[in-house]
Amino acid sequence: MPKIIFLGTNGWYDSETGNTISILVQTEHYDIVLDAGYGIWKLGQYANGEKPVYLFISHFHIDHIAGMHTIALNTFSKGLSILIQDGGTELLNRIIRLPYTIPLEDLPFETTILEVPQRREDLPFKAEFLPMLHPVFTLGVRLEVDGKVITYCPDTGYCGNALKLALNADLLIADCAYKPNEVDVAWPHLNPEMAARIANEANVKKLALTHFDAKRYETIRHRQEAENKAKETFENSYLTTDGMILEL
Ligand SMILES: [Zn+2]
Ligand SMILES: [Zn+2]
Repeated sequence: MPKIIFLGTNGWYDSETGNTISILVQTEHYDIVLDAGYGIWKLGQYANGEKPVYLFISHFHIDHIAGMHTIALNTFSKGLSILIQDGGTELLNRIIRLPYTIPLEDLPFETTILEVPQRREDLPFKAEFLPMLHPVFTLGVRLEVDGKVITYCPDTGYCGNALKLALNADLLIADCAYKPNEVDVAWPHLNPEMAARIANEANVKKLALTHFDAKRYETIRHRQEAENKAKETFENSYLTTDGMILEL
């Protein structure tokens, strides 16, 4: 059964509430990491690198890639595959290079970049990728692993693709950057009631709210208010914090 470990649950920047977004999905045969915010520095505490590791990068906002700077902490004996949008290889290599950080080819393990969704048949597990609603091109993902469906809707506004990816999922992990009632059409993110609406309409079993904007959610108590608001629409809604572990 998959185990989900929230390594980083902040949006935008690190603060007292935690690190920026990164989530480890441990499965029987693979370790799958969702986004590489600074929370990914803790990956080695939970994953020993003896399974193949797949890192999905949803988009290139810095809070989703900043932790690439710490990837050299790991020893991935079965290699690291980076799952990225079309054209993402060039974008990633523009940043993950000297003089900024160690280039991928100089890391002490093998790395492969797979531009999805075109290469999704090359993956050893079932995965579907669809564009989200965000100011820059962003992918969401639906994973089918160990008999469970886990959907990750990163930075996005309410959209049909989020519903499609989440349909009947065992777990929906959703953006909750905005506060209750807050909407910004120019820079779309979910607020707790929008995330709960997706969970409800898609008939998911459980909703995990994450990617709490560090400026808007200064304390965990603020996250509790978001959870309470989400529960009004979808009872099985939960806030996440760094280090939290969910077993499906
Ligand atoms: Zn973000
Ligand atoms: Zn973003």
